[in-house]
Amino acid sequence: MEKICVAVRVRPPVSEETSSGSFWKIEDNHRITLHRSLGTPISGASYAFDYVFDQDCRNETVYELLTKEIIHAAVDGFNGTAFAYGQTSSGKTFTMNGSETDPGIIHRAVKDIFTKIKMTNDREFLIRVSYMEIYNEEINDLLAVENQKLPIHESLERGIFVAGLREEIVNSAEQVLKLIQSGEVNRHFGETNMNVRSSRSHTIFRMVIESKGKHTLNDSLSSDDAIRVSVLNLVDLAGSERIAKTGAGGVRLKEGKHINKSLMILGNVINKLSEGSKQRAHIPYRDSKLTRILQPALGGNAKTSIICTVAPEEVHIEETKGTLQFASRAK
Ligand code: ADP
Ligand code: MG
Repeated sequence: MEKICVAVRVRPPVSEETSSGSFWKIEDNHRITLHRSLGTPISGASYAFDYVFDQDCRNETVYELLTKEIIHAAVDGFNGTAFAYGQTSSGKTFTMNGSETDPGIIHRAVKDIFTKIKMTNDREFLIRVSYMEIYNEEINDLLAVENQKLPIHESLERGIFVAGLREEIVNSAEQVLKLIQSGEVNRHFGETNMNVRSSRSHTIFRMVIESKGKHTLNDSLSSDDAIRVSVLNLVDLAGSERIAKTGAGGVRLKEGKHINKSLMILGNVINKLSEGSKQRAHIPYRDSKLTRILQPALGGNAKTSIICTVAPEEVHIEETKGTLQFASRAK
């Protein structure tokens, strides 16, 4: 049975003025209800999730409650994926990358993995890291700028993989964090407005964790001698806002169509998975590059969490509703 953990996180208001008169209410850390300005709930707009985090919640808490288990399971050989979903400026990147004083999920995961590995004395580990973006349905390598428009291949030996993607073998958390930094630099390369670009691409930070039991002289062969390989994906999705029917043209329109389509397919895939064994029917992984890349680490006994970030300002109410609806379908 797949368990997909779904949470909603409301970011703090951007300025004092926008904070007055909140149109949403959180109950018991599990339910969020939207209201009109005058206080009456919007009919049907009440949603329950595994967790609902308010603006005072720190990345530390999100990590502890939502992702830590996935990270630990990954070291033990289970695939896992954590997503941040939401409209631009709702706090996805803050959740994944964090700040100086409150490191995000990626930072915490990387640290945690190496700590756990150090404590696992009876196995030896090989860790590989890659970092990619999907922009306009094209896969670009963030660890090697020259690797653009990479194809997805499938083989008996390797399963589904991005051909030509750089994988760095890493030995410490510090080394991984440096790689991520260099990836960010690559991403900004040639972009006049990096924020625009980052809100229009999905980024996938991936760690492949391979381990095998260490042999001591007295050891008899046990099942623990098997090699374990697990894939962990930490995904900062493109902004989920609907592109305006009028106004957006050219490049923006094309980007928007790709984003809307791939997020819709992701929603469909997760919805099918969350319906569980009843609906073992067709899961449309192949319909987008994102779901295709993530396929091995979704479903089966993989662990998944989705953090849906929303803005607290009333002007964003329609997008917030859209995000909560996406989150509901994942349950
Ligand atoms: P997104 O990646 O969804 O476009 P960002 O993560 O860039 O959004 O967030 C937009 C702004 O709000 C940033 O300046 C970010 O630092 C701030 N922010 C978002 N969430 C939080 C939070 N939980 N606490 C403090 N600041 C936040
Ligand atoms: Mg962002």
